[in-house]
Amino acid sequence: MTVCQAAGLAHQPNPCTYDCRGCGEPWPCGRARAYLLATNDRVSLLLRMAIELEEASLVLTGEDLYQRFVLWAREGSPTG
Ligand SMILES: [Zn+2]
Repeated sequence: MTVCQAAGLAHQPNPCTYDCRGCGEPWPCGRARAYLLATNDRVSLLLRMAIELEEASLVLTGEDLYQRFVLWAREGSPTG
């Protein structure tokens, strides 16, 4: 595991708010995205994010949820 990956473990979602437990930004924050890209193949990442989107939709609303949870992963960029 690289230093980047170890740091990414701290950036997990709080299931009550879907903010990052590590930095408080909306999850997935930049470090979480980088971690997820480094530790998952594309199919696994998209499946994970689809599940996260379903869970997050219980506590969040908004048209940006698809972009926040899935679009960046589909494009393979942590900033997408
Ligand atoms: Zn974070």
